[in-house]
Amino acid sequence: MISTVLPTYNRSPLSFVKGEGSWLIEADGRRFLDMGAGIAVNALGHAAPELVATLTEQAQNLWHVSNLYKIPQQQALADILVETTFADTVFFTNSGTETAELAIKMARKYHYEKGAPRETFLTFEGAFHGRSTAAIAAAGSEKMVKGFGPLMPGFKQLPWGDMAAFEAAMDESICAVIVEPVQGEGGIRPMPEEQLKELRAACDRVGALLIFDEVQCGVGRTGKLFAHEWAGVTPDIMMVAKGIGGGFPLGAVLATENAASGMVAGTHGSTYGGNPLACAVGLKVMQIISDPAFLAEVSRKAGLLRQKLEGLVAAHPDSFEAVRGSGLMLGIKCKAPAGDLAVAGRDAGVLVVPAADNVLRLLPALNIPDEDIAEAVNRLDAAATATAFEAK
Ligand SMILES: *Cc1c(COP(=O)(O)O)cnc(C)c1O
Repeated sequence: MISTVLPTYNRSPLSFVKGEGSWLIEADGRRFLDMGAGIAVNALGHAAPELVATLTEQAQNLWHVSNLYKIPQQQALADILVETTFADTVFFTNSGTETAELAIKMARKYHYEKGAPRETFLTFEGAFHGRSTAAIAAAGSEKMVKGFGPLMPGFKQLPWGDMAAFEAAMDESICAVIVEPVQGEGGIRPMPEEQLKELRAACDRVGALLIFDEVQCGVGRTGKLFAHEWAGVTPDIMMVAKGIGGGFPLGAVLATENAASGMVAGTHGSTYGGNPLACAVGLKVMQIISDPAFLAEVSRKAGLLRQKLEGLVAAHPDSFEAVRGSGLMLGIKCKAPAGDLAVAGRDAGVLVVPAADNVLRLLPALNIPDEDIAEAVNRLDAAATATAFEAK
C-alpha cells in the first residue's frame, strides 16, 4: 500500500525531536552534527535564540492579514533588501519555486510592455530552479521532466561553462538568462567570475534580462551577502529563498525598477507571500547576516572548513577527489559513491547532503562554532575510514 505521505522522497531512517545550533537530536538523545542545515535553510542554526524570540513575539500579535493591507514587517524587509543590494523593489513568496515563477513572468512581461515580446530563456545544464512546471522546464534535466510533458515552452539549456555555445545562442530573441552563480543541486559548481561578467555583457548587448537564482548561494552563504557580489556584476532580477527565512518558509524576488516595470497592480499575487510571521523572521535574519562583521566571520569559518576538508581529501584519496565551492557552500567531489559516504557519515554522526556529479554538499549554519567544524571533519574522517574498510 502507498505510504500516507506521498513517496516522492527517499528518506533516511533518521527523525529528530530537537535542534540546537548545528546539532540535531533524536528522541533517544543521539546527536548529529548537521552540515546540511535543512539544505542551506537554517542559516543561523537550529532554534537560534534571536529568531525564536522574534517569531514568538510576532505570533502573539499578528499572523496573517493578506496583501490587501499594508504589512509593516514586509515593508521593513523590502527596505533592507533594497538598501543592501542592486534592487529597487521586492516581491515576497513562500518558497524558491515561486520566485522562479515570478522571475519568468516578470521577464516576459518586461519585453511585452516594451512592445517586442520575447519567449526564450537560456538556462544551464545542471541547473535547479524548483519543481513547478515552469521551473522543471527551465532546468530541463530528464530526471525532472520525464513523464510531465508537454513542458512549458521557451527554455533552452546550454552546456555548463561553454561560453562559445552561450555567445552563439545570444541574440535579440532571448528574453532572459537564468543562472545560479553557484550551482547547488548540480554539484556545488561556482560559475567563474569572468563568465558571470560575460553573461552580463551579452545580456546588455542584446537587451535580454539577467536573472540570478541565489536561492541556495545567497544570504551570506558564500561570505558576501549575495554570491554575485564576488564577480562585481549585478542581475536585473534575483531569486532568493532558503536562508532568508532562517527555517521559516520565505522567498523573495528582487528586481530593478526597469526589469519590474511591467508588474503593475493585478499582474501577480500570493495569499501567504510576505505574511507578518515570515517577514518578521526574515528581517531579523537580514539584520544579523548583512552585518559586515558577520560576513567576515563566515569567510573565516569557510577558510577553516575548507582547509580541514582539503586535509580530509588528502588523507582519503580512495574516497575523495577534491573540494570545491565558495564560502560555506562546499562540495567534496567523491571517488567512492557519494551516497554511501553520506550513509557512513550518518553512522558516524554527521549529516551531509549528496548532490549531482557524485558530490557531497556541506552547507552548515553560517554561525557554526569552530569546534563543530573540527568535529564534523573528524566524523567525516571516521566515515571515510569505515567505507574504505567495508570496500576491502
Ligand atoms: C532549492 C532551490 C530552489 C527551489 O526552492 P524551493 O523552496 O524548494 O521551492 C530553486 N533554486 C535553487 C538554486 C534552489 O537551491
